[in-house]
Amino acid sequence: MQFRSTRSHDTLVSFKEAVLHCLPPDGGLYVPASVMDMRRFFLYMDSDTNYPELVSTIAPLLLQGELNPYSAARVTESAFDFEPELQQLDERFSILTLYNGPTGIFKDFGIAFLAAVLEELIKNNGRAMVLSASRGDTGPSMAAAFKNRQGITSVILYPSGPIRGLDPDTFVPNGGNIIPIQIRGTFDDCQRLVCETINDRPFAERYGVTSANAINIGRLLPQALYYLYAFIKIKKILNGDLIFSVPSGNFGNLIAGLYAWKFGMPVNGFIAAMNANNAFGDYIQGKTFLPHSLINTTSPALDVTMPSNYERLASFYEEAPAIMRNIVYPASVGDAVTRRVMEQVWKKYNVLLNPHNAVAFAAAEQLLPSLDPSGHVVVLATGHPAKESRIIKETTGQEVEIPRRLSMLHNKTDPIALIDPQLDAVEGAIAGGFASCSV
Ligand SMILES: *Cc1c(COP(=O)(O)O)cnc(C)c1O
Repeated sequence: MQFRSTRSHDTLVSFKEAVLHCLPPDGGLYVPASVMDMRRFFLYMDSDTNYPELVSTIAPLLLQGELNPYSAARVTESAFDFEPELQQLDERFSILTLYNGPTGIFKDFGIAFLAAVLEELIKNNGRAMVLSASRGDTGPSMAAAFKNRQGITSVILYPSGPIRGLDPDTFVPNGGNIIPIQIRGTFDDCQRLVCETINDRPFAERYGVTSANAINIGRLLPQALYYLYAFIKIKKILNGDLIFSVPSGNFGNLIAGLYAWKFGMPVNGFIAAMNANNAFGDYIQGKTFLPHSLINTTSPALDVTMPSNYERLASFYEEAPAIMRNIVYPASVGDAVTRRVMEQVWKKYNVLLNPHNAVAFAAAEQLLPSLDPSGHVVVLATGHPAKESRIIKETTGQEVEIPRRLSMLHNKTDPIALIDPQLDAVEGAIAGGFASCSV
């Protein structure tokens, strides 16, 4: 499969180039250039197929010529010591649990695959510096995925404030390959600096700079695989439509679902489940999109006003607006309903939902009657209940047991450097081997 910029159909690049360069020179984002029908490969997988089998079968087909089956098996094994889990609740609803990774957030899936595949792609003849911005949970996810990867240094830019959930033993001065850097600025500064550094082509080429943020297609694409996994687990019981309900903030997860559909997954719709920050629903319905001001809710990962994947979603709509209007359905769920659904789902199914997951569940309940009454909705559970134990206690009365790997995410660490929010400061730190800027 080849990749192109959202802004041009002319230049095609390989997966390796898209992953290593991260951003196309024209300011767009990389997207798959062609549709690949994979139906004949996964339609006949049965529900006994496990996740590593699925990944190591489909990934080398998608990345033909770049990832052979042996490499794919190695990547799968080194990326995933965790798996998605599909739990059917009744005829109408299933939950796809995606929070079994090291940090209890579905983002572990894309980051883990990216880290493992990057190591495989540069094996023998390269090195990479992965420069990423983090404000909370993604830093530990990146540190877990990239630690000890051959030829790779992972530099994580943090805004002002505490840095949590990293293990100092993995830091470069202690013989590891992780470098947390604090920027005197905001998360937006960190994201901007990542893009500016990558867009300084000569510099980025010289040091092999790329990113593990969602701008990297190598993180987004593998997320399509858990949709296929849900499909092979659920297909036997389907009588009507299959719908996925996706808690959506920057819309990476939803776009990964659309890729699965492009690969041939028989699916009838995706619910873009938003909280009160729902302005993007206008765009999905074909109206003009005007970002609103930010509203703080009980599902903070969905508190996004301008989705960073906007251009990727827009490229689907430019191609086929009428089809898109009939496959992506926006829904908006307020905090009061979110809380009520957390309580109801506990009482009815004995399942604890993190508020992000509850937004998707509530959106599914809201829309299912108007879609196909005999349809089945797979609700994506993106966050571990233990990450929101206080609100779960309030809504269900239940104490959530906190796994040890998640309680460690509260441990504070110091950055190994503190720098100003300017491109030359970041480039100076990289060029100087991070020596001259200790805190
Ligand atoms: C990041 C995140 C989301 C939103 O995913 P997008 O791909 O940005 O739409 C949903 N739930 C949780 C728990 C998250 O951390």
